[in-house]
Amino acid sequence: MKNILPCIRKKVIDVKEKEKTEGQKLAEKLTFTQAHIHDEKPELFEIAKEFCEGYKTFLEKAKTEREFAFHAEKLLAEGGYQPFERGRFYKAGDKVYTVNRKKAVLAATIGEKPLSEGLHISVAHIDSPRLDLKPNPLYEDADLALLKTHYYGGIRKYQWGAMPLALHGVVVKKGGETVEIRIGEEPGDPVFCVNDLLPHLAAEQSKRTLGEGLKGEELNIVVGSLPYADKEVKERVKLYTLQLLYEKYGITERDFVRAEIEAVPAFKASDVGFDRAMVGAYGQDDRVCAYTALQAELETKSPAFTTLCVLTDKEEIGSDGNTGLNSDYVFHFIEALCEGRGEDYKAAAAASKCLSADVNAAFDPTFASVYEKRNAAYCNRGCVITKYTGARGKSDTSDAGAEMMGYVADLLDEAGVMWQTGELGAVDAGGGGTVAKYVANHNIDVVDIGVPLLSMHAPFELAAKLDIYMAYLAFRAFADSKK
Ligand code: MN
Ligand code: MN
Repeated sequence: MKNILPCIRKKVIDVKEKEKTEGQKLAEKLTFTQAHIHDEKPELFEIAKEFCEGYKTFLEKAKTEREFAFHAEKLLAEGGYQPFERGRFYKAGDKVYTVNRKKAVLAATIGEKPLSEGLHISVAHIDSPRLDLKPNPLYEDADLALLKTHYYGGIRKYQWGAMPLALHGVVVKKGGETVEIRIGEEPGDPVFCVNDLLPHLAAEQSKRTLGEGLKGEELNIVVGSLPYADKEVKERVKLYTLQLLYEKYGITERDFVRAEIEAVPAFKASDVGFDRAMVGAYGQDDRVCAYTALQAELETKSPAFTTLCVLTDKEEIGSDGNTGLNSDYVFHFIEALCEGRGEDYKAAAAASKCLSADVNAAFDPTFASVYEKRNAAYCNRGCVITKYTGARGKSDTSDAGAEMMGYVADLLDEAGVMWQTGELGAVDAGGGGTVAKYVANHNIDVVDIGVPLLSMHAPFELAAKLDIYMAYLAFRAFADSKK
């Protein structure tokens, strides 16, 4: 019985091949249809599943840019990377890294060719949309202790009510000691929550536009409800909360001003679907590209071109700030690498190629009208190359040239990586941006490549495991490329 099925299949295929008309053969030669990865390479699913186990574990450890940078540094140190020293001559095969202000990471493997022939740079961002605590966040109202927040990045505010949140961050105490806060993640930890209105009383609220379903100043987090026992003091619920914070972290109300604390969804990364073919998690934009690009960099051995993996911060708020790509920190690092080897930075920049590793929207049949289905990316059809992002007639973006598109297409095809193109939605449906333009503005060839996501920027985003694995293979191919 075992052998019969493949024989039958082959017979059917042979017959089909013979029965093909001239038109069918011509169509096959000239037209293009995007294949499903599972049809083309069914053997890959088990490998992708295994790969994503490591990814999910990493996502749970690294829910903020600081945590991602911390764990990335650990992996780099374990992987034999040395802290970068300015002025040193690094030779082929050397691996170096540096961390910018605990929120961004640069890791490089020196190639056989001189730097003036260009670097192969992959850039992903490790910040994600969330709720940041305000500098003066804690207050009491109606026997509840609450925290005021200011949202970070493009969130849909209504999505952040009535679900468990965890608090992550640091407080730099007087004298410089840093206290880490991470509560809401371990089994048995308390969680926190932004309230929403009950439907019974939401008649007025329901008339609001969706964008104002929950307003910015309504994103207040409940953190306590028991009063301090002494009735002689005011705001006893707030005081009791402060007492608990002081006991646990040694901080006072004034210390919030010296803190960076982020409220993020408290739930874990999970498999999604009966077939377990997707990962659902917070912060996959853009940790899905950061993780895959970092894995590729860690595995790079004696590349032809020097590889540089950049894990950057602040993309979600426009890349401004000294840990964002609109600052010079990455380019100063390349310059320092060049100086150490007595090479010309400007020549290196002009010859470099960069994959701006970021997610794109996956076509969602429930909201089909905002996509242009012939140019949308689809889950399970491979990593997505995005020639340009932006809005209003390609403004605010780097539109990759045909030569760079041709380079990446050849690179991936030759490596057997399945990929697709994707525009960020239909023309004038909205828009967005990535770090690509900040790289391109330094005279470096760049194109966006990443993983298609469903529910991008939501507290729980979905990505297909096969696409995640393809993104990893794409970054590997780029690092290993001799062209
Ligand atoms: Mn992104
Ligand atoms: Mn984003």
